[in-house]
Amino acid sequence: MFNLVIFGPPGAGKGTQSAKIIDKYTLAHISTGDMFRMHISQKTELGQRVKQILDDGLLVPDSITIDMLEEEVQNNPDAKGFIFDGFPRTVPQAEALDKFLEGKGEKINLVLQLDVTEAEIKNRIAERKKISGRADDDEEKLLKRIDEYFTKTIHVLPFYQEQGKVVKVNGIGNIEEIFGTICEAIDAAQA
Ligand code: ADP
Repeated sequence: MFNLVIFGPPGAGKGTQSAKIIDKYTLAHISTGDMFRMHISQKTELGQRVKQILDDGLLVPDSITIDMLEEEVQNNPDAKGFIFDGFPRTVPQAEALDKFLEGKGEKINLVLQLDVTEAEIKNRIAERKKISGRADDDEEKLLKRIDEYFTKTIHVLPFYQEQGKVVKVNGIGNIEEIFGTICEAIDAAQA
C-alpha cells in the first residue's frame, strides 16, 4: 500500500491536486470535508450533529472525525492505498491514524505539504465562494478556519517531520507545474 497525506491550509489546493493524484496513481481519495458535507446534505444523524460546527468554521471533535475516517478506510478493503485530504487536522488525529494503520500492518508513506501564503489563501477562497456557494467560505468563517489551521492543524507538521515524511511543495503557481512537483515527490517515495 501507498498512503499519502495531503496537507495545507484551507484553499491550498488539496482537493484540486488530490483529484489529479488519484487519477494517475489510483489511490482511494478520502476527504473528511467532503464526507461531512455529504452527511449534511443527506441529513444523516452525523450530518445533523456536525452542521453547525462546519458552518462556524470550527473543527469537528476528534472522536467523531476519527471514527468516520476509520470506517471509510474499512469500507475500501481493495484500495491500493489512500490519499488523506483534510485529515489528520490535529495531533490526536495523526496519532490515531498511525495506530490504526499500524494495526493493519500499514503506515503513512508520504506527507505532501502544500505551501501557500495567507494572502493567497484569502484570495482563492473569495473566488471559490462565488462558484461553490459553500457557507463556510464566507469572510468571517474563513478567518475562523484559518485560525483553526494555525492554532491546531499546523502542529501536525512537526509530528510527521520527526518521522522524516514531509515533502514541502510550493503551492503557488500553475496547477500542472505544482502537480509535476508532486509526482516527483511521490515517485521518489515509491522508489
Ligand atoms: P478546507 O477547504 O478548508 O480545507 P475541508 O473541505 O477540508 O475544508 O473541510 C471543511 C470543514 O470540515 C472544516 O472546516 C471542518 O469543520 C470539517 N473538517 C474536515 N476535516 C476535519 C478534520 N480532520 N477534523 C475536524 N474537522 C474537520
